[in-house]
Amino acid sequence: MTAPRELAGWTHIYSGKVRDLYVPADLPPNTRADRMLVVTSDRVSSFDVMLSPAIPGKGELLTTLSLWWFDRLSGGDGGPGIPNHVIADADVPAEVAGRAMVVRGLQMLPVECVVRGYLTGSGWAEYQASQTVCGIHLPDGLHNGDRLPAPIFTPAFKAPMGEHDENISFDRVVELVGVPHAEKVRALSLQVYQRAADTAAERGLILADTKFEFGLDDDDTVTLADEVLTADSSRYWDAETWRTGSTPAERMASFDKQIVRDWLSANWDKTGTPPELPADIVARTATRYRELVERLTA
Ligand code: ATP
Ligand code: MG
Repeated sequence: MTAPRELAGWTHIYSGKVRDLYVPADLPPNTRADRMLVVTSDRVSSFDVMLSPAIPGKGELLTTLSLWWFDRLSGGDGGPGIPNHVIADADVPAEVAGRAMVVRGLQMLPVECVVRGYLTGSGWAEYQASQTVCGIHLPDGLHNGDRLPAPIFTPAFKAPMGEHDENISFDRVVELVGVPHAEKVRALSLQVYQRAADTAAERGLILADTKFEFGLDDDDTVTLADEVLTADSSRYWDAETWRTGSTPAERMASFDKQIVRDWLSANWDKTGTPPELPADIVARTATRYRELVERLTA
C-alpha cells in the first residue's frame, strides 16, 4: 500500500482497507477529534487481500454516492431525519477534493449493521447449513438470490483488520453495546434499508443487502457514519435481469467488484500474492461503479 499523502493542516492517524483517516494537525494529544477527514482511495480488496492496480475513479464515486445518500436520509427536503457524521460546510483540501469528506469524530460501535432483503453471500451459506441467518429462522425452499419475506437485521462483529467479520445474533449485539443502542441501531438500519430500497426500486435497481456503521456523538446520539449505500457496502442488482435471468450469475449481476472477485476466483488459488488485475477487468469494474452512481443520482 502506498503511504497516505500528506495534507496541510491534517495528521494521518489510520488507514483501513479503502479509507485514510486524518485528524486536525493541532489536535492536543489523547483527545477525541471533533472533526476528522475521511479520504476514500481507489484501493480495491477482495477475499480480504489488497489488489493491484487500483480502480481509477472508485474513491470519488464512493464518496459521491455516500454524500448523495447522507443528504437524502437527513432531515432536509422531506428526508427521514437520520443523523449522520458529515460536516457539510467544512473545507476539504484541494488535493483530495471529490474523494474526501469532513466528518464528526464518533465513538464507533463495534457492530457491522447488515440488513438483507434478499438471500445471498454469507447469508445464503448459513441458510444452507441451518435454515437461519444470524440465528433468524427462515422459510424452507429459498434459493440463492431470492427475496426474503421481509428484510432482516443480520449484524456482524467488526473484526480487526485482516480478519473476517463474523455474523452474530442480536443477543450478542446487546452484550456488545447494551439494549438501548442495540435496539436503536436495528431500528435505524431497517428504516434506512427500506427507504433506500424504495428509492433504488424507482430506478430499476434492487438493493439486495447493505451494511451500515454507527457511532455515538458526545450526546450519545446514535449517528450514521462511515460510508452509506455504496457499491462497496451494498449489493445492488438490476431489477429486470434479476426477474428474467436464468442463471444465478445473471440474476445477481451486481454493480460492485464482483467482476474482480470472479476473475480472481478463476485465476488465483488464494495462497500467496494475488496476480495483477488485467487492464480490461479494471476498466470494466470502473465502468460498473460509474453506472451505479449515474443510475441512482441521475
Ligand atoms: P472495511 O470497511 O473494508 O471492512 P475498514 O472499515 O477497516 O475495513 P475503511 O472503511 O477503509 O476500513 O476505514 C474507515 C474507518 O473509519 C473504519 O474503521 C470506520 O469504522 C471509521 N470511521 C468511519 N466514520 C467514522 C467517524 N465519524 N468517526 C470515527 N471513525 C469513523
Ligand atoms: Mg469500512
